[in-house]
Amino acid sequence: MSIEPDTDTARLLDAGNETILFTANRPDIVMERGEGLYLWDTAGKKYLDFVGGWAVVCLGHSPFAIKKALEKQAATLVNASPAFYNRPMIEFAKRLTEISRFDKVFFASSGAEANEGAIKLARKHGARNRSGAYEIITVKNGFHGRTLATMSATGKQQWAHLYEPKVPGFLQVPFNDIEAMQAAVGSSTCAIMLELVQGEGGVRVAEEAYIAKLRQLCDENGVLLIFDEIQTGLGRTGKMFAYEHYGIQPDIMTLGKGIGGGFPLSAVLTKAEYNLFEAGDQGGTYSGQPLAMAVGIAVLNEIIDQQLADNAEQQGNYILQRLEGMRSKYQFQRISGKGLLIAFDLQEAIGRELVEECMAEGLLINSPHPHTIRLIPPLTVSKAEIDDMFDILTRVMDKRQ
Ligand SMILES: *Cc1c(COP(=O)(O)O)cnc(C)c1O
Repeated sequence: MSIEPDTDTARLLDAGNETILFTANRPDIVMERGEGLYLWDTAGKKYLDFVGGWAVVCLGHSPFAIKKALEKQAATLVNASPAFYNRPMIEFAKRLTEISRFDKVFFASSGAEANEGAIKLARKHGARNRSGAYEIITVKNGFHGRTLATMSATGKQQWAHLYEPKVPGFLQVPFNDIEAMQAAVGSSTCAIMLELVQGEGGVRVAEEAYIAKLRQLCDENGVLLIFDEIQTGLGRTGKMFAYEHYGIQPDIMTLGKGIGGGFPLSAVLTKAEYNLFEAGDQGGTYSGQPLAMAVGIAVLNEIIDQQLADNAEQQGNYILQRLEGMRSKYQFQRISGKGLLIAFDLQEAIGRELVEECMAEGLLINSPHPHTIRLIPPLTVSKAEIDDMFDILTRVMDKRQ
């Protein structure tokens, strides 16, 4: 950004550039504080946040519910050890199984780690029930995380030759193409894994008939169906879980991002019949960590009590309606979304520039691809905040024309 940072910020940026291992081009600002839909940087500049920590801060920034849960749990029990049950762990697993149709939960800290757990469980199923089948079929343009196995599952073009050799046993077929999937499933297949709405892929929605046929294909072949709901789960798409839009259920579902409202937390949910791990097969130092569990319970209660899935649906529809109204003026090529997971395609590949220009004007939006802008605000967003967002966005876009 062109603005000269103040001396405190400049000092922080120098120290950051010196000591933080480079992995990303970050703008010359340092985030300091958040409240509701807003973030403030160290220079005191305020940002309206339609990225929401990357679809993570579902209750908004610094919600009271998380503060309260952390304070109470930190004063009670921070960590016993993953070898013991603890009270919030049991309570949270019980809550998750009550609001879904799953029976068993494994907790972890990040989305990729949850997907690793799902992959291991699928391979266990293959070893136990399908004479050693190990292959997992995923779809193109999907995203499953950044561990070696989940990068191999993702099959992103840009990652094709990164960190080779890849973890074997993953195969990608085109999305929404049932014939390609039918052709790919064979005796070595143990699972099919995909997102119902491809988030990083630019908000591409799975077709209903496709998902119904995947369910049937899996049933016929004894293959597990895994939905990666790390971005779509917990109210984001207007239902508690995106699979509820499709009238079928997966065998395994992974949750992340919104489940902790910003606290590192993820989960693998499955049916009792896939309770297949033996002692020591799977674990993790922070599996069921009490602070994370207390936060998870608090976040879930807020999502339910404040009816945030309904708000996601209503406000999401309002955003879509506003975008449709702008379509011809700004020549949007595609407008897509479910709930508060929304994207629109620009005629030109100016995504990054638009993100920077909006940031300068105090608005945070995301561009997963050069042609695409994605909006993933907290589920608490109001109509007034959406209007404010469109005021800034249109001002920025008008300046370009
Ligand atoms: C973000 C994301 C992941 C990875 O989650 P991390 O917490 O970054 O490991 C996996 N799958 C989907 C669909 C995601 O959106």
